[in-house]
Amino acid sequence: MTVRREVRPLAVASGAGASGTVPGSPAMASERSRQRMIAALRSAGIRDADVLLAMDRVARHLFVDPALASRAYEDVALPIGHGQTISRPSTVARMIETVAAPIPAAQRRKAKVLEVGTGCGYQAAVLAAMFGEVISIERLRGLQDNARANLRALRLPNLRLVFGDGRLGAPSAAPFDAIVVAAAGDAIPEDLLLQMKVPSRLIAPIEASGRQSLHLVERVGPDSWHLTVLDAVRFVPLRAGTV
Ligand code: SAH
Repeated sequence: MTVRREVRPLAVASGAGASGTVPGSPAMASERSRQRMIAALRSAGIRDADVLLAMDRVARHLFVDPALASRAYEDVALPIGHGQTISRPSTVARMIETVAAPIPAAQRRKAKVLEVGTGCGYQAAVLAAMFGEVISIERLRGLQDNARANLRALRLPNLRLVFGDGRLGAPSAAPFDAIVVAAAGDAIPEDLLLQMKVPSRLIAPIEASGRQSLHLVERVGPDSWHLTVLDAVRFVPLRAGTV
């Protein structure tokens, strides 16, 4: 499958407007960096055309502090305030590609996805560029306010930010076609397992004996879940309650 190139970026640096980028402008520089990031994701084995397209469309530099914007397209985690971090692009891509894999391209625009850990809102925006409806939960009010501000210009009517403890999921919106957890707990919360559609996938970093790894859960029946342990990762902790 090839990446459709005609789609305009969802957000560009100020001054360029929605119709394109001005040659020599910061928006143009960030577009080039973003294209390098997409090339690096391909080399790292990301194949899903929808993931690559969504990450090409969402301007990651607008989600980090301006002082860090020049590093926004490197494959690194960056601080986003309140002691939290935005995940590295390759991790975002890998998680979304993994949960999306069984969802046929034609179904993705109708799929409902839950994210736990909005952070700066970057991954939520990527998900919203790819799926029909996205609900993203954050437990730190200050970060949720930042995410809302970061996301405003993107005007994503299919993205809903929820303030709460994401370990409880979003029961009123369940079941979900995919769930992505962006913070590491010691187990996958049972509420989330029960809010998965049959069949569907969930991905979450899990910490055991000081090491974290991505866990892929496939719900294969009403009472049946299948677990696969994937790559080693480094995420901030999944915490209870709200602040
Ligand atoms: N997806 C984010 C990365 C967020 S870092 C991005 O693109 O920026 C993980 C986030 O999970 C942090 O903001 C942290 O506050 C949040 N978090 C931790 N425990 C949580 C919980 N129980 N419910 C909701 N959010 C939680």
